[in-house]
Amino acid sequence: MQRLLVYTDLDGTLLDHHSYDFGPALPVLERLERLGVPWIINTSKTFAELRSLRQRLGHGHPFIVENGAAVYLPAGCLPGGEELPEEQGLRVRRFAPERRTLLERIAPLLADYECTGFSQMNVAELQACTGLAAEDARRALQRNYSEPLLWRDSELALEHLSARVAACGLSLLRGGRFVHVMGQVDKATPMPWLGAQYARQSTAPLQTLALGDGQNDVAMLEAADRAVIVRSPTHAPPAVRGRSVTLTDALGPAGWARAVSAVLDQLITEAPDD
Ligand SMILES: [Mg+2]
Repeated sequence: MQRLLVYTDLDGTLLDHHSYDFGPALPVLERLERLGVPWIINTSKTFAELRSLRQRLGHGHPFIVENGAAVYLPAGCLPGGEELPEEQGLRVRRFAPERRTLLERIAPLLADYECTGFSQMNVAELQACTGLAAEDARRALQRNYSEPLLWRDSELALEHLSARVAACGLSLLRGGRFVHVMGQVDKATPMPWLGAQYARQSTAPLQTLALGDGQNDVAMLEAADRAVIVRSPTHAPPAVRGRSVTLTDALGPAGWARAVSAVLDQLITEAPDD
């Protein structure tokens, strides 16, 4: 079988949009493990937010955090290659400045606007403006590569800040509730580097499959050989260009499972000698 590398978003893709359930995808995750197909989590979530989730998923492969900011390689994964720094027992390849660098760069700018950054909030203050449970709020504050801002200034002021942030090598992303200051990265940024690490392990050709449901998945979907847009119960599918783009009929993890199964069936049929 041709070697396959799977990149997957979490919320609304592998995880149900409302319940975060991934039950419908479990048999296919097990099939990927049996076939030795790495599945890379590619999410806007943070390292801290992924810790228990990866345990529940039984995930032992590399994972990409905070919208392409960094790739973490679990112990023993993709040996050799360049020397990488370690963080809590995992090797990390960073593609964006770390948060303390980011905060140093934006502190002089933020003084000119009406806004509050996560770095200025404690758990209780974040709970008050989000309604998050204490444990979730505590985890949300543990970010490594981005600074969410509670914006209270005008739209014009936000455009002004956006230009100033870009001038210092950073970018500004509008989320639902917060404006995020982050590096100039997206979910596709780490893919060539990670692909090269897998290419080092074997000479067999490598094909990539990416699955996502949202606007912040578009770069990842367009960077993959095959793209699957997972249908969402809450928003229209994003526009994705590419040679092989499909949209699932089923929502969330059920759509995910059927789409990955179909690709595996096809690759196995194409290589009957394996
Ligand atoms: Mg999503």
